[in-house]
Amino acid sequence: MGYAIVGVLIVSGIILLGISIYVAIEGRRRRNLWFAGFALAAALHSFGYAFKVTANSVEEALVYIRIAYLGISFLPTFGFLAALELAGKDRHLKKGTILSMIAFSAVTLAIVCTNSLHHLYYIDIVLTKANVLTIVHVVPGIWYKVFMTYVNLAFAAGIVIMARALAEAPVDLKPQYWVYFVSFLVPGVGNLVYLLGLSPYDADLAPFYLMFMSVLLLFGLNENQLFQVVSIAKSRVLDSMDDAVLIINRNNRIIDHNHSLTHIVAGNSDDYVGERLSDVFSSHPQVVDFVTNHANGQTNVALQDGSGRVYRVRVRTVQGRRKGAFVKCLTMSDMTREMNVMRDLKDLAHRDALTNIANRRALYCQAEDVLRRCGTGMAVSSIMLDIDDFKQVNDSYGHEAGDMVLKEVALLLKQSIRAQDILARYGGEEFVLIMPDTEVDAAFALAERLRKKIAGAEIFYNDQRIELTVSMGVAGEICSPDLQVDQLIKNADAALYEAKRSGRNKVALYRDCDG
Ligand code: GH3
Ligand code: MG
Ligand code: MG
Repeated sequence: MGYAIVGVLIVSGIILLGISIYVAIEGRRRRNLWFAGFALAAALHSFGYAFKVTANSVEEALVYIRIAYLGISFLPTFGFLAALELAGKDRHLKKGTILSMIAFSAVTLAIVCTNSLHHLYYIDIVLTKANVLTIVHVVPGIWYKVFMTYVNLAFAAGIVIMARALAEAPVDLKPQYWVYFVSFLVPGVGNLVYLLGLSPYDADLAPFYLMFMSVLLLFGLNENQLFQVVSIAKSRVLDSMDDAVLIINRNNRIIDHNHSLTHIVAGNSDDYVGERLSDVFSSHPQVVDFVTNHANGQTNVALQDGSGRVYRVRVRTVQGRRKGAFVKCLTMSDMTREMNVMRDLKDLAHRDALTNIANRRALYCQAEDVLRRCGTGMAVSSIMLDIDDFKQVNDSYGHEAGDMVLKEVALLLKQSIRAQDILARYGGEEFVLIMPDTEVDAAFALAERLRKKIAGAEIFYNDQRIELTVSMGVAGEICSPDLQVDQLIKNADAALYEAKRSGRNKVALYRDCDG
C-alpha cells in the first residue's frame, strides 16, 4: 500500500512534468507559460514528496523537503499568474508585481534551504510512520505561517479570478471557464482540509490535488482548441504564409490564426485567439458578414481603412468528428497589386491612348449602361462629329500636327459636356457624344455651339494657325427597353453624312434626313 502511494506520487510527478513540457511547447506565442511553470512546480513537489515519504531520518527528509520546495515555493505565485493568464487578464499585471511575487517565492525557497541556521520555517520536525510510509510533522516557524497565508491567499485569488471570468464569459466559453473554476477550487479546498487537520493521517495530499488540477486545466484548454492541433512544423509553415489564415468556431470566435492576420487588423496585439471575429474585424464588417452568411465561397473585400488594399476572402467549412461540430477556415489574400494591374489593363482597354478619352469599346459599354438605367420615355440624344478635311491637315502640317489637333478637339469637347454625358473617339477623326436625359433640340443647340467653338479655336502648330471646322450629325430617341446603342450611333452617322453633303462645317438633324 505504502509503495503504491510512492508509485502514484512518482507517476503524478511524471504526468505533471509531461503537462508542463507539452504546454510550454504547444502553447504557441508565449501563451500559458505560467501554467507550464505551475505544472513544473507541481511536478517537483510530487517528486520531492515521493522521496520524503520514504525518508528514514530527519536529515534525509530535509533533503527531500528542499527538492519539494523547489516547486512548492513557486506554486502559489505561478498558480495566481496562471489564473490571470487563463482569464485573459495577465496583460494588466505590472512587471513589478510579478517580480515581487517571484522574489517572495525565491526568498521562501532560500529560507527553507537554510532552515537549520535560523529555524524561521520549521522550529522542529518529527517523523512518524504510517505503515511503511514516513509522515513528516512540523512545528511551524514564522515564515511557514507567512508562506501558508500567501498560499491560501493566492489560491483564493485564483478562485475569485476564475469565478469572475466565469461570470463574464460569453455563453460559448462558459464550459471552459467552469473547468478552470473547478480546477482552482480543488487545491484551494484541499489545502484548507489539510490545514484544518482533516486530512487522513494528517498527510498533505497536495500533489494529488495539483495533478488533478493540472489535468483539468489541460482538458479545459484543449476542449476549446486553444492549443495547436497541428504540429509545430505546420504552424511554422502557416506563420510564414503571406495569406492570413484563421480558424473560427461555430460561434464565430477565432480559435487559431497565423501571423499574417496582424497585417490586416489594426492593433497592437499579435494574438487574437479566443476573440470574436466581429471584434477583430470591427473596421471591416464586410468580412464578418461574408463569413457569417457563407459556409463556402469567396469574395473580394476593399478595406475601409483608407489604405486602398483589396483582399480576397475565402471561407471553407470543415465538419468535425462530432455530429454538428464544424469550424470555418478563412483565408485572406492580398489582391491589391493584382486588382491594380487589372484596373490598369481595363483602363487601357477602354481608353484611347492619343486623346485619353473613351474608345469605341468603352463607348458601347458605357452607353449600354446608360440605356439600361434610363427610364422608359426619357429622351436620349447622340452626336457624331467628324473633322472636315482632316486628311488635308495631315498633308499640310504633318501627322504629328494631326495628332495634336485630335487632342485639342477632344479637349474642347470634354470641356463642353456634363458629367453624365459619354464622349468617345469613335474612329480616326470621328467623335461620338451620347447624352442621357437630353431632348434632341438641346443636343442640336449644343452641337451648334461646339461647331462654332471649334471653328473659332486658335490651334497653333509651329506658330502656324490651323484652321479647323467640323461637321456633326444629331439624333434623338426616346428610351425604351428595345433601344439599342447602335441605333443612336447609326442615326447620328446618317445625319453626319447629310451635314457633309450639304457643304461641311454644318450640323444636321437626323429627322431632317428622313424626308
Ligand atoms: P471629310 O471632310 O470628308 O471628313 O474628309 P477627311 O479628310 O477628314 O476624311 P478622310 O476619311 O478622307 O480622312 C481622314 C484622315 O484622318 C485619314 C487618316 O490618315 C487620318 N487619321 C486617322 N486617324 C489618325 C490619327 O490618329 N492621327 C492622324 N494624324 N491622322 C489620322
Ligand atoms: Mg472620317
Ligand atoms: Mg473627316
